[in-house]
Amino acid sequence: MPARESPNGPRSLFLACLQRSVENYSLRRFQEAAFARGHTLMQLNPLNCNLVLGAGPPQVFHERKGYLQGLDAILVRRGSGITEEELALIDHLEGAGFLVINSHASIARSRDKFLASRLLASHGIPVPKTVLLKTRAGLEEAFRLLGRPPYILKPTRGTHGVGVMLAESRQSAESIFDAFGGAGEGLLIQEFIRESRGIDLRVVVVNGRVVGAMRRKAARGEFRANIHRTGVGEPVKLSQRARDLALRAAQVAGLEVAGVDLIESRSGPLVMELNTSPGFEGLERATAVDIAGPIIEYVAAKALSRERPREARPVRPFAELAGDWPWGGGGGDEREV
Ligand code: ADP
Ligand code: MG
Repeated sequence: MPARESPNGPRSLFLACLQRSVENYSLRRFQEAAFARGHTLMQLNPLNCNLVLGAGPPQVFHERKGYLQGLDAILVRRGSGITEEELALIDHLEGAGFLVINSHASIARSRDKFLASRLLASHGIPVPKTVLLKTRAGLEEAFRLLGRPPYILKPTRGTHGVGVMLAESRQSAESIFDAFGGAGEGLLIQEFIRESRGIDLRVVVVNGRVVGAMRRKAARGEFRANIHRTGVGEPVKLSQRARDLALRAAQVAGLEVAGVDLIESRSGPLVMELNTSPGFEGLERATAVDIAGPIIEYVAAKALSRERPREARPVRPFAELAGDWPWGGGGGDEREV
């Protein structure tokens, strides 16, 4: 791919967001941020990618565009709903020489709430007392460990607060376990951090630096602070402890871009969850802080600092896709790769 001159830097990059949807806030913001820095950014739909093996190095054959090549970096924008196949695609893309952020390994260890908490706890990072439930006897043991109700029960792969349940009594925890516990997906029971009073903290960390943070407060009568529920975000000045905890959590997981959720307990902040592909519409709106910019800057700097990716079989230069992109010079309206 010939280098393109950029007014803002030495080389104009081709970046992609690996995500299924073509219309969303973060994609638009990433495009703006990339364009402002002289780069091109497009969507790469994982559902259009075929994985090719055994014919030399691993390659990815795109539904309509042929063999992927010439992409300087791929930013993974799949949340906790990421599938095994998508994880395999990320691994495959890394194997094919692409720069992928976050890495396959870091996503694999962070996407599941229990695995992430286990990893963090093993590094001495405080997390809520949690039991991954398998049997009724395990539930009884959880009652003993966690003490008096209420309890929080939640799926290991949930998001946006969906499925996070408050059990006011042991009986209701038992009913929830009977309804969901045996299902394929894991079910967690946790101590209820009552003193958080429906407030949590979202901290976005990029390459070991906090680039934004907000406090989210649930509406009256709701304990879940998620903006996708009824939560309202506001700017917050993080305590040194909360800041250090968020940075350490991202570092331990190996996440270069992370949304770390903290909850304030009586004994200090706890890490509640790691988001490997944090949304930031609520955060940018609540704080007026630019989150897309620092992420793109980091991705671009890393892409520029490494060698050119090893090219896969050159069937069709990926650079031609620039013409498909509204800001790439072609004027077409096809935005999906
Ligand atoms: P999700 O991935 O769906 O956002 P979370 O584990 O982050 O799930 O929980 C959603 C919200 O529920 C949190 O932001 C927090 O406000 C509340 N919450 C979750 N776990 C607890 C807990 N153990 N104690 C108190 N509140 C909690
Ligand atoms: Mg959450």
